[in-house]
Amino acid sequence: MWRESSRFLRRPTTVTGAVLVGLACAGASAGADPPLAPAPDSAGPTARVVLLGTGNPNPDPERSGPAVAVVVSGKAYLFDCGTGVVRRAAAAAGRGIAGLEAPNLGIVFLTHLHSDHTLGLADLILTPWVMERRTPLEVYGPPGTRALTDHLLEAYADDIRIRLGGLEPDRHEGYRVRAHEIVPGVVYRDSHLVVKAFAVAHANYEPGRALGYRVEARGRVIVISGDTRPTAAVVESCVGCDVLVHEVYSAAGFRGRSPAWQRYHADAHTSADELAELATRARPRLLVLYHQLFMGRSEEDLLREVRRGWSGAVVSGRDLDVY
Ligand SMILES: [Zn+2]
Ligand SMILES: [Zn+2]
Repeated sequence: MWRESSRFLRRPTTVTGAVLVGLACAGASAGADPPLAPAPDSAGPTARVVLLGTGNPNPDPERSGPAVAVVVSGKAYLFDCGTGVVRRAAAAAGRGIAGLEAPNLGIVFLTHLHSDHTLGLADLILTPWVMERRTPLEVYGPPGTRALTDHLLEAYADDIRIRLGGLEPDRHEGYRVRAHEIVPGVVYRDSHLVVKAFAVAHANYEPGRALGYRVEARGRVIVISGDTRPTAAVVESCVGCDVLVHEVYSAAGFRGRSPAWQRYHADAHTSADELAELATRARPRLLVLYHQLFMGRSEEDLLREVRRGWSGAVVSGRDLDVY
């Protein structure tokens, strides 16, 4: 049985630089497509989920840091930017998803400011700029996001000064950042999608400083857990959603960890057993595991653990998978 901490369900009352519009309707989409094979996003209006990074702090060369893209009609919306994000995006672009070409990387939503989810932020600010992105990067995230981006720009001030003052073609806006510090609720809306942030429960993060996201795009509902122990907020945000991208750790591997690490992981993350129970309540059409903490177990072991308690569709996500 997983626990719920009501203190994490309260909404902060302060709004700092947030773009807040009316709440989106919370119904699940009906009749949405099943998971899709990789295909160019120009092929149709379907919103595609592209896993750019499925890793975690462990420096697994097969898994970049956490980053998920939702691509709609050639426009990419990133969720987190772990290490390697721009290169993984380039790899996806090389497979035909043009929205992920570097100059098109223009907007990112951060789940929380843990380094594994944000180490690629300097990359996301600067590399697309060098590749001739001409507009500022839009960064949405919890309180602290503005300080993070300000400090990164300060750290790279000399690089920016040299590039602006040299012979490279003029581009005075592309390195800039527009930081939006958000609270749970609808945080973004355009003609392609609606993004709603919800509070999750992650280790000792204060309420509202660790977020998950629900995305409604082209009739599909996609929910991204971010880092969290089991929380009803994910269930309420999914309720029959098309794709639930959720973090997970191996329950069997967990039993081999030290008591100190067990305390941390139980407080910060979601075991395969817990995720199976959560999915049974949330009923996603497809459950995608990411940010997998294998703890010495195999991918097959992890999937087996989830399937013990969840009879629906589940895949263990890998970098560059498309759903
Ligand atoms: Zn993480
Ligand atoms: Zn974290």
